[in-house]
Amino acid sequence: LSDRLSGVFDKLTKQGALSEDDVKTALREVRVALLEADVSLPVARDFVKAVTEKATGQAVTKSVTPGQQVVKIVHDELVHVLQGDETDIGTLKVDNPPAPILMVGLQGGGKTTTTAKLAKRLKEKHGKRVLMASLDVYRPAAMDQLKVLGEQIGVDTLPIVPGQSPADIAKRAKQQASMAGYDVYMLDTAGRLSIDDTLMAEVEEVKAITSPRETLLVVDGLTGQDAVHTAENFDGRIGISGVVLTRMDGDGRGGAALSMRAVTGKPIKFVGLGEKMDALEEFHPDRVAGRILGMGDIVALVEKAQDTIEAEQAEKMARRFAKGRFNMNDMKMQLEQMQKMGGMESIMGMMPGMKKAAAQIKQSGFDDSVFKRQIALINSMTKKERANPQILQASRKKRIAKGAGLEVSELNQLIKMHRQMSDAMKKMSKMKGGMFKQALKG
Ligand code: GDP
Ligand code: MG
Repeated sequence: LSDRLSGVFDKLTKQGALSEDDVKTALREVRVALLEADVSLPVARDFVKAVTEKATGQAVTKSVTPGQQVVKIVHDELVHVLQGDETDIGTLKVDNPPAPILMVGLQGGGKTTTTAKLAKRLKEKHGKRVLMASLDVYRPAAMDQLKVLGEQIGVDTLPIVPGQSPADIAKRAKQQASMAGYDVYMLDTAGRLSIDDTLMAEVEEVKAITSPRETLLVVDGLTGQDAVHTAENFDGRIGISGVVLTRMDGDGRGGAALSMRAVTGKPIKFVGLGEKMDALEEFHPDRVAGRILGMGDIVALVEKAQDTIEAEQAEKMARRFAKGRFNMNDMKMQLEQMQKMGGMESIMGMMPGMKKAAAQIKQSGFDDSVFKRQIALINSMTKKERANPQILQASRKKRIAKGAGLEVSELNQLIKMHRQMSDAMKKMSKMKGGMFKQALKG
């Protein structure tokens, strides 16, 4: 997907202006790309229609290139669909204790795991007293599973009483939660391999007994279209208040999220990112949009850069980087801009494939507080030295360090960092599709 899209945007950036035909051609490709990411056909169609309208109506502003503009319009529209009007992503209604939360979904989707993850979050982040109950009467192992997880995270589980129906257990959980003063009680229901009437009837009964504040559908994000059908079915029959997408630590398909959101209109509240109890995050529409587009957080980078750097300066710099040129003058400019933009790690971390380089630089003892001293060191260099840092020999180093009132070791650190950044810039300019280069350069 990412290859295809960078290909499309490369084509666009090579042209001067954004004509209606360009938009149409590019978005035809985007549509195919979305389908490949497992977005359903009607959703992809609507999405493309919305973007076409926005892109064609919009004048290309002076400070951004047509390529940037399309990247941003596509990205923003993805975020828009993923987010909807919801302001309650990552939140659960748990006022009026005891607040019931009903967990539903197919077997193996991650209900039990997610129940425990959410309980832990409610306990640790929100200071809630939580009671968990397993309604999975078909698989005794499932009840034990919840109990073990409860012990692991320090959350109570309703004592297991063999022979009770899910409705019986739900009543007992409700009673126990009121009596013992729990803030929240969570009902982990049984799932089936596919949707059937018995399952739905059972969940309906439990819902009627407890009137849950939240009915969360837990679905495996890797199952693509099936996940979307599951969501439609559960919402149609039971009515859900939100979705938790699990296994988003998997191969990174965001397409299901987009379809799910568009089809059900229900918020995706959380995503599961692994088997561990901490592997739960609130849903970040912008991250998922970035994942669907396969661009890292390139859009955020473009936005941030636009805020802080003059477009012309960025353009000039991008050209130099693309040619692999990066001297101490560039370094100084970078240092100054990094100060403004929130530090090197933050910036490099946003570029696809640069997280490792950022970590290495950090490991080499660099932290943002040394910006000022490094700028002082560069100021202490002659013009010639700044343009050709490779001529910096021992005697020059001594003079420069003395001029800045600092140690030679600190200058060595600067030189090392310059070399690392220079290498990183070269790598970046060789990146597949040259997205960054194209995005900044146009
Ligand atoms: P349930 O049948 O719906 O209750 O599903 P479980 O909670 O028992 O989960 C089934 C399996 O999926 C377990 O092995 C979990 O550890 C695993 N699992 C759940 N959520 C995630 C997730 O977000 N990422 C990954 N990689 N595995 C998960
Ligand atoms: Mg289970």
